[in-house]
Amino acid sequence: MAVNYDFIVIGGGSSGSALASNLATKGPTLLIERGANHTAYPQSSVRQGWPQITAIAWDHIQNRGSGHWTGTANILGGGSALNGAVCWRGERSIFESLGFELASVESAFEMLEDRLCTANDDADTEYMNAFRSAWEEHGYEPIDSAPGLSSWVENVTSVTTIQRARTLLPITGTRQPASDLFEDDLLRNDGNLTVFLLTKAKRVLFNDNKVAIGVEINSPSGDASIYIRNGGKVFLNTGAYETPKLLMLSGIGPDNTLAKYGIPKVYGNNAVGQNLIDRKEASIGIPTLKSLEGSDIGVLDYAAISNDYWASIAHTHAFAWGNVIQGCGVCDVKHRTPACIEQMLGALLFYGMGRDSNIAFYYVAQRRPLTRGNVTLASADFRDPPIVHDGWSMEYEELTASNKHDLDVFVDAVQDLVVDFLRNTTLIERLGQSSGSTNEGPFLGELTEAYFDARMAIAGLDDELDQCTFLDYFKIADTFCTNWDECTPSIPSFPRNDRRKVRDIVFKTLASSQHMAGTCKAGAVVDKGTLSVMGVQGLYIGDLSVVTEPVDTHPMMTAMALGLLLGESTDRVPSADFEATPVIMALLGIATVAGLFFLWACTWIRQSIISQPFRHEDMEHVEPQSFFDIFAQNGSQQRKVDGAIELGNVGTELTPQPADNSDGAGIDVSSQQDTSMPGGKRPRLMKWSNVSCVYHTKTPGKSKKSITTLFNNSGCMREGEVTAIMGPSGAAKSTLLDILAGRKSVGAISGTFSVLGRSFSMSGRGRDGLDDLGNSIQGVSAYIPQQEYFYPTQTCGEVIRFTANMKFGKANQKEERTILVRACLDAVGLESEAYASRKIGGELAGGVMVRGLSGGERKRLALASVLALKPKMLFIDELTSGLDSENAFVTMKLLKDLSVKMHVATLIIIHQPSPDTFALFDSLILLSKGRCLFSDSCSNLATFYRSNYDESIPTNTILADDLIVKASAYESFDDNAMRMTVDPSITEDFIEAEEGGLSSITSLIVDGNDSLNFTSISRAFFKLFVIFHRNLVNQYIRNITNVGARLASYSGLSLIIGAVFWKVGITDSDRGLTFEESNIVLRTNLYLMNVSYLLPFSTIPVFFADKKFLAAESALGLYPTWMYGMSQVFLEFLFLTLMSTIEAAIVIPMCGLYNPTMPAAVNFLTTAAILIVSGLVGSTMVFCCSIWLPTQDLAFLTGSTVVTISLSLSGGFLPFTEMPDLPHTFQWISPIKYSFQAMTIAQLKGTSAEKVIDLAGYDTPASISDNMWILYGIFFALSFLTALGMARVKEVR
Ligand SMILES: Cc1cc2nc3c(=O)[nH]c(=O)nc-3n(C[C@H](O)[C@H](O)[C@H](O)COP(=O)(O)OP(=O)(O)OC[C@H]3O[C@@H](n4cnc5c(N)ncnc54)[C@H](O)[C@@H]3O)c2cc1C
Repeated sequence: MAVNYDFIVIGGGSSGSALASNLATKGPTLLIERGANHTAYPQSSVRQGWPQITAIAWDHIQNRGSGHWTGTANILGGGSALNGAVCWRGERSIFESLGFELASVESAFEMLEDRLCTANDDADTEYMNAFRSAWEEHGYEPIDSAPGLSSWVENVTSVTTIQRARTLLPITGTRQPASDLFEDDLLRNDGNLTVFLLTKAKRVLFNDNKVAIGVEINSPSGDASIYIRNGGKVFLNTGAYETPKLLMLSGIGPDNTLAKYGIPKVYGNNAVGQNLIDRKEASIGIPTLKSLEGSDIGVLDYAAISNDYWASIAHTHAFAWGNVIQGCGVCDVKHRTPACIEQMLGALLFYGMGRDSNIAFYYVAQRRPLTRGNVTLASADFRDPPIVHDGWSMEYEELTASNKHDLDVFVDAVQDLVVDFLRNTTLIERLGQSSGSTNEGPFLGELTEAYFDARMAIAGLDDELDQCTFLDYFKIADTFCTNWDECTPSIPSFPRNDRRKVRDIVFKTLASSQHMAGTCKAGAVVDKGTLSVMGVQGLYIGDLSVVTEPVDTHPMMTAMALGLLLGESTDRVPSADFEATPVIMALLGIATVAGLFFLWACTWIRQSIISQPFRHEDMEHVEPQSFFDIFAQNGSQQRKVDGAIELGNVGTELTPQPADNSDGAGIDVSSQQDTSMPGGKRPRLMKWSNVSCVYHTKTPGKSKKSITTLFNNSGCMREGEVTAIMGPSGAAKSTLLDILAGRKSVGAISGTFSVLGRSFSMSGRGRDGLDDLGNSIQGVSAYIPQQEYFYPTQTCGEVIRFTANMKFGKANQKEERTILVRACLDAVGLESEAYASRKIGGELAGGVMVRGLSGGERKRLALASVLALKPKMLFIDELTSGLDSENAFVTMKLLKDLSVKMHVATLIIIHQPSPDTFALFDSLILLSKGRCLFSDSCSNLATFYRSNYDESIPTNTILADDLIVKASAYESFDDNAMRMTVDPSITEDFIEAEEGGLSSITSLIVDGNDSLNFTSISRAFFKLFVIFHRNLVNQYIRNITNVGARLASYSGLSLIIGAVFWKVGITDSDRGLTFEESNIVLRTNLYLMNVSYLLPFSTIPVFFADKKFLAAESALGLYPTWMYGMSQVFLEFLFLTLMSTIEAAIVIPMCGLYNPTMPAAVNFLTTAAILIVSGLVGSTMVFCCSIWLPTQDLAFLTGSTVVTISLSLSGGFLPFTEMPDLPHTFQWISPIKYSFQAMTIAQLKGTSAEKVIDLAGYDTPASISDNMWILYGIFFALSFLTALGMARVKEVR
């Protein structure tokens, strides 16, 4: 039932039928008519049947003022199906006052005359001739009125004319009511017109924006609501009584009326129902004692028209009908009770008419009355007729000035057109009576019999009817008229010389003309020109209610013309044009996916087929070079520039130190002395003194607590030396290492530092100086964490190359990179030809294990990768843990050799070094519960033992263990009692104390920025590209299990949805889904939103693995973390676009999510675009949570809470119009709302179910594009947040 139309016309009467037939040429139109089809009544088409059809298809109403009977048609065709069928054009002034172009008005009239109104071009009959001749005698001038009323006839000078109208009911043939226009060739409506008969409109429906959206109806099958499409229109054409009533029932009307009946106000307008024009007529019978030929022909079509009034004649059928309908003329006005009228109508219906009568029906009407009445509601029940007050009264004394003016006009009219007319013309003789004073007494004899005949023809002898008697009229005659000279021979008879008596008789004789109009006046209720109802949108009035002034003579054609003109001026409802934005977005998405695939394919082909990086052959191809040679070249170049010092150890061959080089304690000290340096000591690259670290903690309910973990530590790192940090667990080894490496992220740090000649001092408050220290250190150092992180799918060569790329940029050519890779691997003992292309292995994000390097090999690779950075300082957190003692020694030996040869100052945490390993250390920092027991060259350990413990230094084999035992046993932290040995030179001023001076130190810094010749912007791009490429290769090309699993879950789920919601969107109608069908599609859309927003949760572990990797890698300081964040967000964007495109490709055809009003390709692209952007938002939400939240559980909890809330506010479960205020307010924060809305609009826009969008409030915003822009906005905001979150990721140490 609830199907969308472009236009709904309520009321299929004269104007409504014309309007509907025109609108149907522009789009699907519904005409709602409360009555039955006029063709169901044979009386409606035959000439003599029209009184009966009027009696049948008539809804009566009694005027409260005058008591006159009136009413509205209740049949398809309205008044045109039951009226007198006279076609007069309305005056120009009527249309001018409504704002219509006269040219189009004239065409409308011509069209109506051509289609419906037959011209009366038969020869005049004797009956008509009698009247016409009499009018001519009386001074009226016949004119050719074929084009209609005189106002449309050029060159008419006389104001008293005789005109002849056209008719809907030709003498031969059948009636052509307005509804015949439906069949008209010119108005071919292509099946667009639907007519609901016996259906009553209850009220017009509006949305919150006061836009008309449909109509509530009551039909034989019950109540229902029918809607128009967006941009469609509703028209009220229910006549001057019903139209204001419907407006009021719809909430538009006087405030007090709406309040009285509890009708929700849409727009208050006191003018609704005012200005009722119920033009009056007086029916007068003229006795025809002579039988006139052709008395049945002239049907209200002959008229004598003067300036203020007119008169017309009718055939015999019309007389009886006129007496009944036109005010129950045979009754005194006081007896015009409903029962009386109904019985008369019943009698009329039963007996029928068509008998000969001896009375010529003649009626007189005023043209431009001043009296105005009003229409108001009788109740809020649509079934109750409105209360009509015509502005008149039953008592003369109560008449208003306007009434009296109108009554005067009537008296003039009767005087002119009846009294004087009968006296001064020969009409009375022509009708069979003799004129002159010889006629004695009141009207008795033949005339009286004629009266009674007429009465008997229409009336039974019921009591009720007895009250409606001619006696009053006879009484008048008895009382006032004794002869022809005194009284006019008419019914009622009028005294000739007493105007006051004439006025009284006229007043009693007046009746409604049934030409009501003006109750929704243009300029007060509707806008002039458009006829659009004020205060609302999409609602128009097209019937006689809108006229401002009385329509002259018969108004039916004016009503029809209004319908046509309104239809003509109504634009087509724009078809649901598809929106370009989603289509462009989808194309861009698909192009991106194609690009991704291309990139993927190219990389795969390059790596798998053309040149796998660092293949065996590549390695063989390059000349093997010693890493130290490469380093020495760079170093000596630098030194040449600075020319300050020479490094004697450069190029020295690495050999384990012979045992005989040890001192008495067996410690190898050969490498601890650099004889080339003045004073025999190597330069210190870094030193620190009084370094402390305090944690401030606060437990609930307790006061703030400070825990000092590191106390006043001092020490230094010398070039070419390895310094070990040792101590039992909890000794703060890592704390010290992290502070010195510039990686400490928590705790208040204090102390003074000197790094390559730059001094830093920290007070322990905030992070003052800490970041500067970190930046200075990280620029020249490298850090190897305890747990090294590599992409398991990366090869060893790639790891080194990546580090080199990050450090040195693009300047070095491929071959140089290969040489470097080879040298680095060889330097750490990983044979480059075998290892360069070997995968590192480990657990992939997603859980799959990849075979690869052993623990020792990984440690070496970690070392090799930092070698590529050519650091001056190396910080290592437990390089040997997890290795057997042999492996540990070999690794440490390697480190020692590298340190010496590269002049690197190495600081390493070590737990339990073997004696051989311990022997490799140049210096030692021994910590115990944060205190420093020893911080000096290992050669001073003997002194340490002697002076602090009064012991000789233990043998080499137990020295390391004994030191740990000493540190573990050390309980007292009384500074005075503490036994501590610290290199005394540390406290000296760095620059002055340092042999060689600052310049010689800084000259050793190998800084890519200086040695390479390219700008920081291009380096940033290069770095970004390298990171992007590495992540693309490792996460999306080599981690095929993860990619495959994600692809499989998206496509699998899409297939399941397709199977479950199989073809739900397919409908036979080319106007799309019905309301009921659309319900299921909405559910499908909602389910799809679940996929877009919930499926990404499966990737949380992947995001966390990523975060962990980034945290570890960011510690190396190779690149700014935002670069990683950006590349990851972009990679996800590409991948998700691919996923969503696949989802769209499966789901749309399987579920049949087609909107038939859009081209199929556009439909697909639009839906795909929405799914893509929804997938992006859903996934980025999860991504963002994963990056910002510390644990997976929390990310799951937060993400799922956000999505659940978002789903509940999406409008999919509960339409927005049904939502309570609070959630309704929060709907805007739900991204799923926009996704769901966009999908719903895409599916339903322009279809029969389009109104669902409006009714459920899925129109904020109303276009797909706007919803998508918001989603893209959310996506970019979330992406930015995610990248920001990634930029902040670092290891908490
Ligand atoms: C007896 C009689 C004789 C007349 N003779 C002539 C004549 O000879 N020449 C002339 O020019 N004029 C004549 N008129 C006047 C002319 O018929 C009307 O002025 C004209 O029909 C008005 O057109 P309309 O479209 O405004 O209203 P109508 O033609 O009355 O149309 C209103 C339509 O709305 C329908 N309707 C009302 N309420 C609802 C609802 N809630 N839901 C659905 N449908 C509804 C009605 O059933 C009706 O079909 C005569 C009128 C009458 C009553």
